[in-house]
Amino acid sequence: MAVAESVSGGVRGAHEGILRRQSARESAARTYARALPIVPVRARGLTIEGADGRRYLDCLSGAGTLALGHNHPVVLEAIRKVLDSGAPLSVLDLATPVKDAFITELFRTLPPGLADRARVQFCGPAGTDAVEAAFKLVRAATGRAGILAFTGAYHGMTTGALAASGGACDVRVARLPYPQDYRCPFGVGGPRGAELAARWTESVLDDPKSGVPLPAGMILEPVQGEGGVIPAPDDWMRRMRQITAARAIPLIADEVQTGVGRTGAFWAVEHSGVTPDVMVLSKAIGGSLPLAVVVYRDDLDVWEPGAHAGTFRGNQLAMAAGTATLAHVRENGLTERAAVLGSRMFSQLTDLTREFACVGDVRGRGLMIGVEVVDPQGDGEAETERQGDALLSPGPVPGPGNDPAPPTAGAQTPRTPLPAAPELAAAVQRECLRRGLIVELGGRHASVVRLLPPLTISDEQAAAVLDRLADAVAAVERLSQAGGAKKPSG
Ligand code: PMP
Repeated sequence: MAVAESVSGGVRGAHEGILRRQSARESAARTYARALPIVPVRARGLTIEGADGRRYLDCLSGAGTLALGHNHPVVLEAIRKVLDSGAPLSVLDLATPVKDAFITELFRTLPPGLADRARVQFCGPAGTDAVEAAFKLVRAATGRAGILAFTGAYHGMTTGALAASGGACDVRVARLPYPQDYRCPFGVGGPRGAELAARWTESVLDDPKSGVPLPAGMILEPVQGEGGVIPAPDDWMRRMRQITAARAIPLIADEVQTGVGRTGAFWAVEHSGVTPDVMVLSKAIGGSLPLAVVVYRDDLDVWEPGAHAGTFRGNQLAMAAGTATLAHVRENGLTERAAVLGSRMFSQLTDLTREFACVGDVRGRGLMIGVEVVDPQGDGEAETERQGDALLSPGPVPGPGNDPAPPTAGAQTPRTPLPAAPELAAAVQRECLRRGLIVELGGRHASVVRLLPPLTISDEQAAAVLDRLADAVAAVERLSQAGGAKKPSG
């Protein structure tokens, strides 16, 4: 007994020592590490084991990277095969059998209108690299400069991508309203809110005095991830396609987070049937290793040799892991599984909006789900007025299943949005962690609890995730009623 205690004391000490050294040595810009003080040492599927011996269900999945969860056998086998073959691991943009197989598998999955005429550019390995490459490409192809992006968008952290995400940078980005129901900027939500958003976009482009010259491209996420898990209505997506096509503006779909089955379609643009001109892909396509590409229609391929270079464009392990992941998702119907399980999880989660005053909204598509935490004591009427109109009449919006999507709770019960509650959301995240569940926070006000489980999650695991989350929300609600969790200031 004494030996066991000292072993576990030693394990705990090592865990705490690592965390202590991390906060002493790593940048103040640390992100996930602050809210999730864990030290992962082993992982498989949905489960992570910490250096303290605790086990967690991981619904962060490397920020949506792990379509097959941690260390899936087909991914490990693909990596080992490359290692054992003696193949070079880094080859710039040279041709290799590993890369050839990756491109073949990738092209097999692309939306039909793009697959037949696709070109792929291997750029630097992060999503933000692909976004930069896409901007450069459409600028070269159109001879124009500006980019259209949307409120709440997230495209990365390099300068151009950051500008498109709403950061203050000197890149000409015109920002347009992204449709959303719960906090509709026009105060109406539903199809009408989306229609107004589309009309605004159209008028900005057609009004010679709007201050927005004809842009080089429009970039959008079919489901905003970091912006708070906001699925774009399919009709709105089609409107964006029509508006851009009519004005010869290349449409760039950022599928960095939504791709590879996550939303219940292999690529999220498939829900609306929209064929973009350019797609930026990363995260899951590398099967947990860094890999990013830009895929675009051949007539946009105006680049001169070397127009967009970079050292780390030939990661053979990532390509092999990515090929294995794409093939496994395709061959095992994991996209359909994400749609079905996502719908089920979504409808169980919407019960939370009825049960807990601090759950304002639940939304998502497939296995990309968000639970917005609000201040139950906040002034909903003031919030509504602040957003523009006191008349809320939400209509059907995309839910997490296929199109036509099941209506969200918001579609059934018109609700007044309450103020976002980032501190309560952070408390839910902490309570989840205490119960062995890792979730991410996102959204404009960091008040949306995000679930991005691997597509391989079992029914039992999904039930455990929902139980722990509901339990955590109940604990936070109790605390907030007792005045234990600080109310947000604004
Ligand atoms: N686009 C989207 C839609 C994303 O979600 C992200 C990352 N969360 C990025 C781009 C940037 O990817 P990275 O962090 O790999 O640069």
